[in-house]
Amino acid sequence: MLNPMLPVQSIYGCALSDLERLCDEAGVKKVHADRLRAAVFRRGLTDVAAMGDLPSALRQHLARRMDFSLPQVRASQRSADGTEKMLLAMRDGSEVETVLIPAAGRLTQCISTQVGCAMGCTFCLTATAGLVRHLQAEEMIMQVFVAWRARGQRPRNLVLMGMGEPLHNYEQVARFLRIATDAKGLAFSPNRVTLSTAGLVPAIRRLQQDRLPCNLAVSLNATTDEVRSRIMPINRKYPISMLLDALSDYVSARGGKRVLVEYVMLAGINDSLDDAYRLRDMVGSLDCTVNLLPFNEHAGSAFRRPDEERVSAFRAILVEAGIVAVVRDSRGRDISAACGQLLTQRPVRDRCCTAFQSDGALRCSSRS
Ligand code: SF4
Repeated sequence: MLNPMLPVQSIYGCALSDLERLCDEAGVKKVHADRLRAAVFRRGLTDVAAMGDLPSALRQHLARRMDFSLPQVRASQRSADGTEKMLLAMRDGSEVETVLIPAAGRLTQCISTQVGCAMGCTFCLTATAGLVRHLQAEEMIMQVFVAWRARGQRPRNLVLMGMGEPLHNYEQVARFLRIATDAKGLAFSPNRVTLSTAGLVPAIRRLQQDRLPCNLAVSLNATTDEVRSRIMPINRKYPISMLLDALSDYVSARGGKRVLVEYVMLAGINDSLDDAYRLRDMVGSLDCTVNLLPFNEHAGSAFRRPDEERVSAFRAILVEAGIVAVVRDSRGRDISAACGQLLTQRPVRDRCCTAFQSDGALRCSSRS
């Protein structure tokens, strides 16, 4: 719903009901909301003057009331494999990264859902920033538009695997998913949108209840609570058995919709053959695909990448048990765009200090 307290709001966070309200405010028929939606979300127009099929009263109202601007691209790096990482500045100055991964003429985009992350996974560079703030749904949608403009091509797949834990920002991520998959809006197929979580069990259950339009991926990353709690502090609250129960219920409730189990392989930590056997026993009855992700080393990390023989032997144990297991070698490693490598150049809190007031509240300096 539009917030009447704010003089200007981003158009990119608007659902159809918001656009209809804009039509009401402008004194034109609600039917124009569909045209407005097509102009913004299908044709990617950012200039109201170019929306000639809308009544002039609506165009004038839009120009006064709505913000069509996109985040500024502060930096862009392209990997040898074609992967591109973009550093985007939001209206309050906070920065996030989004990654574009081309394959076979199609583009997959990795979307950030928070500035920083609160989950504290010890192998992840984003975690070192801590959580600065949640992103708004429009700030996630805007990442898609920035990519679309930069590459002249709309991404085909979206993965919510950038900075942040999507389910920690449930309301805004739910809004994002609904706008992104709205058949008359951005119209992404729900099968081409994947949300990845570290394992916030109550939110997984809510996701199941709300039937949000996306695939689900879960970072498991260990086969004992002792190891998982060490590398993923969230496990202390929601241990492996609780997580697997939630996944099993999710699969049943979603009519057998497969989930993706992600397993970052850390040499000497979770890559033993005993781990492989335990993983086999854990997920053998779950309708899932296992993605094995050999760790992407980064400066300052104590973790190491396992060698290829170990990764193959680990995978073979799963495959022999009939489990679909794939080794995913992350793209964009040479520009730190791979999984767990996203971090704005210095700690995010430093970068956003203008937005923090002495009482700790976040305020957007551009609006004050
Ligand atoms: S791996 Fe994901 S959930 Fe864990 S700290 Fe990094 S961004 Fe957050």
